[in-house]
Amino acid sequence: MGVGVRLGHGGSGATPKPGSPGPQCCAGSTPGVALSPLCPPAGTQTPAKKPRSRSILQSLFCCLCRDEGEPCTGPTGAPLLVEENGALPKAAVKHLLPEIKPQDASKLCVVIDLDETLVHSSFKPVNNADFIIPVEIDGIMHQVYVLKRPHVDEFLQRMGELFECVLFTASLAKYADPVADLLDKWGAFRARLFRESCVFHRGNYVKDLSRLGRDLRRIIIVDNSPASYIFHPDNAVPVASWFDNMADTELLDLLPFFERLSKVEDVYAVLKKQRTNS
Ligand SMILES: [Mg+2]
Repeated sequence: MGVGVRLGHGGSGATPKPGSPGPQCCAGSTPGVALSPLCPPAGTQTPAKKPRSRSILQSLFCCLCRDEGEPCTGPTGAPLLVEENGALPKAAVKHLLPEIKPQDASKLCVVIDLDETLVHSSFKPVNNADFIIPVEIDGIMHQVYVLKRPHVDEFLQRMGELFECVLFTASLAKYADPVADLLDKWGAFRARLFRESCVFHRGNYVKDLSRLGRDLRRIIIVDNSPASYIFHPDNAVPVASWFDNMADTELLDLLPFFERLSKVEDVYAVLKKQRTNS
């Protein structure tokens, strides 16, 4: 199966529609390296001639929506049909998450992004990689070099105690799943959701929180890309994109806020106010 690995999604709106050649989709900033982190700015045109490896990966990268049967449909994924008795058809209420575990029943659900939030990954070899993940693309093995964001260990460990954490990434499982295996030593992630669980909307992979099967008032999304939570901005705790700054303290600095947030009944009361003040 030809599968590009999406290593971060800038969410700048620059990603092309499914099926398009994919010139603007998260091409990355490293020349000749297919899957570096962020999309180029909206309107940026990729040169017609590209290195072959980049071209292959890039085209795979954003056209998977159609190839993998992703829901290239409307924004919400919300059921539109109601039966005569007012009940939703069974097929329409399938949630992305399984039933909440008894030990998490009182906890808020925190949806956590991967690329540029917890790690930064690249095909470009780096000598300080925390993990090297082999990924097969079109029958060729590629090495993905993964850097952990500073303090990600403390962050994940504590978040896993405070919340029902869910990894939700627009990357492909063949890359993101092994990264999560290595990253999450504490079992913080109760579930993992990948690209196929996103909604492809206006050129971006959006994480539609209404499909999770949790009370929206009790969901928080932690993501470096505002496009990822464009349907639910009031559930978001934005984080700055991270690439390689080893002095970064964003995750550490967020922990006291999450400690407080873990005790609220309704996240909107806090997060909406925070948005208004910021
Ligand atoms: Mg991200």
